[in-house]
Amino acid sequence: MVLQSIEITATLAVPQSPFHNLHWNSALELSIDCFVCERIGRTTRFELGAERAICSGDSRTDRHYTAARMSAFDTGAAKDQITLRAVVDYWFAPFHDAKRDVAATPLTRGYGSPWVRLHLGYHCPEHNASGAFSDQTNLVRPCPTPCEHCAVPIAESREVPRVRLLT
Ligand SMILES: [Zn+2]
Ligand SMILES: [Zn+2]
Repeated sequence: MVLQSIEITATLAVPQSPFHNLHWNSALELSIDCFVCERIGRTTRFELGAERAICSGDSRTDRHYTAARMSAFDTGAAKDQITLRAVVDYWFAPFHDAKRDVAATPLTRGYGSPWVRLHLGYHCPEHNASGAFSDQTNLVRPCPTPCEHCAVPIAESREVPRVRLLT
């Protein structure tokens, strides 16, 4: 078994609009190869502070805990953008995915960079209501997000979130 660390970084442009308290939520989903259920490219949910991550398995009924956790979660904000850097650690052991008939790799290759989804929240000052949306690998960019309450643009995704192996 090897312990792998994966770094995820992302930047979202923030248009000039009334203050919506736009912020990253400390949870994310990442596709990784799971040695527990022996399937490649499983959507795995990480939450800051949780000692384990949750692998989605093959279907809703076989979701399971896995030996992975989020070890770092840092956010930054500038005048016109917000940034995120998260690190997840997970245990990996080689296996063969019988269903797809391929070997697992330490960081899923052959499918390009692993897929990731990041979550954001905000608060609309005009309607005093909160909202949420996500940024993920497979979006058509630039991808603007309007406030669901007052419709002003509050964020725009211009770059694909980056995922890289640290160890
Ligand atoms: Zn699994
Ligand atoms: Zn609003």
